[in-house]
Amino acid sequence: MQSISPEIIFRGNDAWEKALPQIINLSKSPLILGRSIYTKNLRNKIYKDLKNQNLNVNFANLHFDCCYEDISRIKNIISTNNHDSVIAAGGGKVLDSGKYIADCLNIPCITVPLSASTCAGWTALSNIYTKNGQFIEDLALRSCPKILIYDHKFIQTAPSRTLASGIADALAKWYESSITSSTIDDGLVQQAIQISRVLRDQLLIDSEKAFKGQFKNNPSWRNTIEACGLTAGLVGGIGGEKCRTAAAHAIHNAVTQIITPNKFLHGEIVGVGLLLQLRLEEMKNNNKLAAQSIKQLLVIMKALNLPTTIAELGINVFENQNLDRIANFALREKSEIHFLPFKIYKRDIIEVIANFEQQKIKI
Ligand SMILES: [Zn+2]
Repeated sequence: MQSISPEIIFRGNDAWEKALPQIINLSKSPLILGRSIYTKNLRNKIYKDLKNQNLNVNFANLHFDCCYEDISRIKNIISTNNHDSVIAAGGGKVLDSGKYIADCLNIPCITVPLSASTCAGWTALSNIYTKNGQFIEDLALRSCPKILIYDHKFIQTAPSRTLASGIADALAKWYESSITSSTIDDGLVQQAIQISRVLRDQLLIDSEKAFKGQFKNNPSWRNTIEACGLTAGLVGGIGGEKCRTAAAHAIHNAVTQIITPNKFLHGEIVGVGLLLQLRLEEMKNNNKLAAQSIKQLLVIMKALNLPTTIAELGINVFENQNLDRIANFALREKSEIHFLPFKIYKRDIIEVIANFEQQKIKI
């Protein structure tokens, strides 16, 4: 069974207002799930609009990441108050929690991304973390959200850092899917890879303009946010698990095991993982194109103020056995790094990361 996309998608300016009749048809008592204080005003608007439609609406906030502690607390709130849907309004962690909770309780989920930081508003997948943000596992859900509302006016209020993070995560789609899935003899998978290539090209053309003109709602910005929040989800929906992740995400998951005072966004860490994946391809697969790709990506990542080393994520890999911990987690049995078409040993990861962190990266 494969769930390719949300059942209904509203996109563009005023998508939220246009979606209201559909929500009323679907639900009489929704729970609005959120987290950040920065998006409180938007969630208040969502709450008031639903209240005005005479819905029995309530809200709850995550206290931590998308973690089992928050999930079971919110499941209890929903069961006690007989809510019949979840409206997840926020970034990736909120969207993932809302989707997972709705899946467990067999009620519909409506996703309302409030930034372009991930494609979590689209996918039938939830990434679970500890309370401290350490990756545990990703869970396949029975279906994509019932309704996805991608309101450009909402997304325009998000900090440009979230856009940069979404761009890095979406760029990774091509580099991860093309290396892991190019030998899969399945037309849909091949087409998903081609979409991810077009997605990458679009981002190479538009993302810098979008990032710098974030508050102007220009065509580059619109193309870029939709590439990050919609098309990236479509690639995973059509291509399936192997089209979604490889070493870049495996390294992301490993890096989150080290707890740092400052938290970094999913795509910011994936971007660094992507550079390291390309180094592994260069070293282990003798891929000369990978070296070219690193140079090309570094230019764009610098322009978007994205971190390009693990040190820039606030982690010194040469302290506290951090390098060892990252390598062990990246290589654990369930890791997506094993989707790579060549064998990776611990010494490879250690060598690549150590070299990468030591060198002064020139662009
Ligand atoms: Zn991702």
